[in-house]
Amino acid sequence: GPSCFPPLPALSALTPPELRWENGAPHSQSFDDVYFSREDGRAETEHVFIHANHLPERFAAWREARAFVIGETGFGTGLNMLCAWACFERHAPAAARLHLISTEKYPLPRQALSKALSAWPSLEDYAQPLRSQWPDAVSGIHRLHLSKRVTLDLHFGDTAERLALLDGQVDAWFLDGFAPSKNPEMWQPSLFHAMAARSRPGATFATFTCAGVVKRGLKAAGFRWQKVPGFGRKREMLAGHIDLPPADTRRHETPWFTPPPPQPAKHVAVIGAGIAGSSVAAALARRGVAVTVVDKTAPAAGGSGNHQGALYVKLAAETNVQSRVYLSGLMYSRRWLEWLDPARTLWSESGVLQLALSEKEAQRQRRFFANHPLPVSLLTLHPRGELEHIAGLHVAGDQGLFYPQAGWVRPKALCERLLSIQEVRYQQGEVTQLRQGDDGWQLLMANGDLLTADQVVIASAYLANGFDQTRALPLQAVRGQVSCVPLPAEVTGPAPVICAGGYVPPALDGMLTFGASFVPNSETTGVSPEEHQRNLDELRQSVPTLADALESAGVTPEQLAGRAAVRAASPDKSPYAGPVPDANAWQADYAVLGKDATRVPTQTGQHHPGLWISTAHGSRGLASAPLCAEVIASRMCDEPLPLEAPLADHLHPGRRIISALIRRQVL
Ligand code: SAM
Repeated sequence: GPSCFPPLPALSALTPPELRWENGAPHSQSFDDVYFSREDGRAETEHVFIHANHLPERFAAWREARAFVIGETGFGTGLNMLCAWACFERHAPAAARLHLISTEKYPLPRQALSKALSAWPSLEDYAQPLRSQWPDAVSGIHRLHLSKRVTLDLHFGDTAERLALLDGQVDAWFLDGFAPSKNPEMWQPSLFHAMAARSRPGATFATFTCAGVVKRGLKAAGFRWQKVPGFGRKREMLAGHIDLPPADTRRHETPWFTPPPPQPAKHVAVIGAGIAGSSVAAALARRGVAVTVVDKTAPAAGGSGNHQGALYVKLAAETNVQSRVYLSGLMYSRRWLEWLDPARTLWSESGVLQLALSEKEAQRQRRFFANHPLPVSLLTLHPRGELEHIAGLHVAGDQGLFYPQAGWVRPKALCERLLSIQEVRYQQGEVTQLRQGDDGWQLLMANGDLLTADQVVIASAYLANGFDQTRALPLQAVRGQVSCVPLPAEVTGPAPVICAGGYVPPALDGMLTFGASFVPNSETTGVSPEEHQRNLDELRQSVPTLADALESAGVTPEQLAGRAAVRAASPDKSPYAGPVPDANAWQADYAVLGKDATRVPTQTGQHHPGLWISTAHGSRGLASAPLCAEVIASRMCDEPLPLEAPLADHLHPGRRIISALIRRQVL
């Protein structure tokens, strides 16, 4: 197999399929083939994919702590996946969970998806969460929570390409896609090899076709197949399995990122009750893990404690891995909030308008826009003349980027909501030391108490590297202060979140919040009038009329209310999300990189078993922490990741140890 990951495909909008509707069923013009048959599509799905993979029996017998994973090539209308979910509900025990992965190169527009699925009234309850979270047609992985125990990862892009980047393993494959004669590009050896390489030992597959190219391809990749009776008039189809899938060799050139062997966890302690900790707690709770969250002060006492926070990202002009992570994070947070709080009591998709206040920034925005052909539902670029209409008031700047789906969140209320989940227990206390015992971890508390847990997630922002095990992870404290003032009755606030240097969201509960200051290397939390003044100055630069209006209403820096908190940043400004490396072992095992970075050792990365970290979310934790929580919970529970493997590696908490070793060589 390959010794590293293939390059990530361009971040771009995908082409919608050309459809023709026949009697309510979609037909692809480009491939001249049907998505399903209007008469008996559902019965065909049951026969070909569900029963030939023995799903009713396998679901009924499923007792693993991890989710059962189905992988599909060609999501289409989702009929197969919804039928699999319905079958799971019918047969699986209450504690079982299901994880669906499906690729799609030409995602249906939402309306077409709805129309197609309306052919199956009995699936309506299953179709609803799919429709409401249906993502924009952007290449990449989109994780949807269909129910508390069913997750769907849509891998938008070409099947073989997507499977080569998948970090996860499959128990049963639905080998769908238009007929090999009509879609020969998909049915290539690379597809079958990628399926084999992402299979669990004993993984099964089923497919409607019996074409020679499929039989040969599957066999060459290590699958054993047999012909079984096909559905209806189709005489035969293929089903089979793979005994011993090939080893995953894609991390041979980056062995330090090899994930630690999975260990079961029944009880996890999470240190820190901000958005990072509470979203990890919720992600684990959903997987049936009991969680104790401890915080030295209170829920959301740090950077997540503001009444209102912006859900937004700042992306580099040239696509890089960090931007990919943040864009995924933004889209994930948006769907996750929709699922968690459909009534929108905790958040709003008010949109975020990023103003270009200098010609340099305007150029950067134009470069970014040209480099990222994203759907207009996700991102638009606007000249000066259009800004006021979007902003709802007069704004400065000659140009702006608008993210219609971004917006704002009540971060404190969100953390409190997450901590109120049944399986999550909150406890106040300061953890001073972490000790690895024979079967799990001991958390020593400042008051002398001892808390034990199978595994631990450290999510305490800039304090996260205060333990012996995490000292080697560089973190910077960054103080930030927001200013708040009751919005005078005669003054209009912004319609979306407006950001330039700082940000100002729409008024909430009659209060206008703006900020935040940015003071690196400061751990103080006292409210400072100077920083209020700086926030006012920033506000004047981006929304001068609003600053004027506040001034005429008699608002002075001294009268502003506010709140200061300390956030955490890593040197490369990406979060740390993953297992905690054993830094001493890494220094020894990879010391050779300091002499010759091309001599890659074979030793895989050693980690503190059962110790994880989610931090360095800076001021964009609302966009990064929920997705990072899924990365950690998925890894811990041995389930497919919501990010492409190279992006998960980019978040690895040990990355700076490796780059420091390599830099030493250059110096
Ligand atoms: N499983 C679907 C369902 O339940 O509705 C029906 C699948 S339809 C017959 C085939 C799907 O494969 C189409 O949605 C098509 O866009 C997709 N497809 C075709 N070639 C592909 C490729 N190379 N990579 C990913 N998806 C592809």
